[in-house]
Amino acid sequence: MKKLSDIGTIKDILNRHGFTFSKALGQNFLINPSVCPRMAELSGATQGVGVIEIGPGIGVLTNELCALADKVVAVELDRRLLPVLEETLAEYDNVKVINADVLELDLQKLIKEEFAGMEVVVCANLPYYITSPVIMKLLEDKLPISAVTVMVQKEAARRICAPVGSRESGAVTVSVNYYAKPELLFDVSAGSFMPAPKVDSAVMRLNILDKPPVDTDEKKFFAVVKAAFSQRRKVISNSLSSGLGIGKSEVLTILESAGVPANARAETLSLQSFADIANNL
Ligand code: SAM
Repeated sequence: MKKLSDIGTIKDILNRHGFTFSKALGQNFLINPSVCPRMAELSGATQGVGVIEIGPGIGVLTNELCALADKVVAVELDRRLLPVLEETLAEYDNVKVINADVLELDLQKLIKEEFAGMEVVVCANLPYYITSPVIMKLLEDKLPISAVTVMVQKEAARRICAPVGSRESGAVTVSVNYYAKPELLFDVSAGSFMPAPKVDSAVMRLNILDKPPVDTDEKKFFAVVKAAFSQRRKVISNSLSSGLGIGKSEVLTILESAGVPANARAETLSLQSFADIANNL
């Protein structure tokens, strides 16, 4: 079969299947032939490894993953793409397509049933409208996976991969760093997709940690992070007071015990400082 990233091939397939793009489902398909092989290679897909792909589209990345990994399970919400994928993945017998919403899927169960005894990684060109919920689901569900390699909007990748404590960091940076070590891999221009989105993209890999880098009560930790970043312009004492609904004097005592200045801003705090605040709540 001709290369799936070839624009002529894609148009032919889509025409034959009468397929029209759904903006609501974030359907921007890759047409740059260099992106998928690189992404698949960097995802850790190799012999002995199973891969979960989210949103295979017409299967351009899926093909590369199938060629490298032992098994690929691709989760696609749009049932109109099922006959397309049947055609484009015909040469592989190590792939299974599941028609489901990834946010609704029990991934623990899926991994147990489909990848027993295998190392598992996730690799996906994510639909942008659900980037954060998908990433946080993959991390919060504490799945037995070693890495998550995803393409997201460039700005989102920059924020997630910014060092904790830097001006570019946000609640998502701190949250992701609790579970993983993020790594920015490469940028992908908007022109690499059909239809072209308005913004550029980037591929990043989240290397899952064996255990969190700080010792804390998880529920309190994430409540503190959420409250701290809820009003970025405010100093930490004010944002915690309003975000957590506790009195200012109590917040000042907590901050003092945690060794955090009352006038600090959330984006300057380390993971340990967030944990220290949570542990003093
Ligand atoms: N992997 C293909 C590529 O790189 O060309 C397509 C990527 S496209 C950005 C996102 C894909 O995710 C689409 O195929 C879309 O139908 C699918 N999708 C959207 N929402 C989804 C969801 N909640 N669960 C699973 N797949 C979803």
